Amino acid sequence: MSRAIGERTTTDAAAREARHLYPTYKRPDRVFESGSGWILKDSEGREYVDLLGGIAVNALGHAHPRIVRAIADQAGRLLHCSNLFRHPLQGSLAERLARLSGLPRVFLCNSGSEAVEAGIKVARALARARGETSRTDLVALEGSFHGRTCGALSVTSEESYRAPFGPLLQGVRFVPPEDACALRDAVGPRTAAVLMEPIQGEGGVRCLSASYLAAAREACDAAGALLLFDEVQCGLGRTGRWFAFQESDVLPDLICVAKPLAAGLPLGALLGREETAAVLGPGSHGSTFGGGALACRAALEFLDVVEEEGLVERVRQTGERALSAFRGLAAGNPALREVRGRGLMIGLEIDRPAAPLVDALLARGFIVGSCRGQVIRLLPPYAVPPEVLEQFADVLGGLLIGESI
Ligand code: PMP
Repeated sequence: MSRAIGERTTTDAAAREARHLYPTYKRPDRVFESGSGWILKDSEGREYVDLLGGIAVNALGHAHPRIVRAIADQAGRLLHCSNLFRHPLQGSLAERLARLSGLPRVFLCNSGSEAVEAGIKVARALARARGETSRTDLVALEGSFHGRTCGALSVTSEESYRAPFGPLLQGVRFVPPEDACALRDAVGPRTAAVLMEPIQGEGGVRCLSASYLAAAREACDAAGALLLFDEVQCGLGRTGRWFAFQESDVLPDLICVAKPLAAGLPLGALLGREETAAVLGPGSHGSTFGGGALACRAALEFLDVVEEEGLVERVRQTGERALSAFRGLAAGNPALREVRGRGLMIGLEIDRPAAPLVDALLARGFIVGSCRGQVIRLLPPYAVPPEVLEQFADVLGGLLIGESI
């Protein structure tokens, strides 16, 4: 055991990965071995402030004691018993998600992409059950990201992600966000569902307005289409509300969640209106691992911790302070072109490629992400202190005014 850990140096790990993994990720030369709260530690003992939070997964940070205890306890009782049998946790989790979202039906899966797949299948199956067999089309937004499986990729707009893998699903139209007329024109009698992220994540942290969400609801109602909100990245407390769409008065027909749901274990969910329940009868859809006992236990603990520690409210307050620090920075620094986001989902658009800056920040002990080429993306754990984000703003400011990168 100690030999295995000793061997896991940066170069060993990189060489093995280069030989044997599909090279789907471009990774910096660090190996992370442990973490606590918003701090990650690498194999050389260096510490980093984790402002990316596993791309919105580690909402409770690393090694949260309650999550560690719940997982250890559940592992000693029951990990898995297949979806052919009951365990006590799926129903409780579904009940919690239903209460928080306002949508009573839940299908549990393993990832965001799978939740989107389930949503597409429900929308098409519901149309078919109503006798509308030609209602199979989908409308999504430019700048959207819904996942990498073939169905989810079909409603993801970025051409470079799609191009090698076609043909994808037929009958998908992309419309520009925030253009209610374009949306109304695109939605019609053949539209099964309209999909959108209330805050586009991979698309550069772009918030859709409450009035646009309301226009989407109206367009769907007028045309008989379902409205699906993909809250895989922005949901479950990230924006200072349980769901980002709750900033509006709109209730969608379907919601997808995943990333932070099981505090680091894979778990996704499709939430739906009661009318959608009948189309997923026994045998119509399923998943070997989805809703397994371990992931459900972690998810129940995650929801308990967020509720008991008042983290949704805390995210809102920390987010407001952080956004005002970044807006202050932007005011005196034209290299920071735009500050976008809500709560602890923050995008900082700069006047140059973000990748070298992301590397420079890593060298200074800050883990951040980038998207859309010129946007630095922050998705930190919910309990990160605002002072940490203010310190980060200072460091970023120094780098942007040309401290050597
Ligand atoms: N939807 C959104 C909004 C996402 O941000 C992502 C992941 N970045 C997905 C879906 C896909 O999730 P997963 O990688 O868990 O399949």
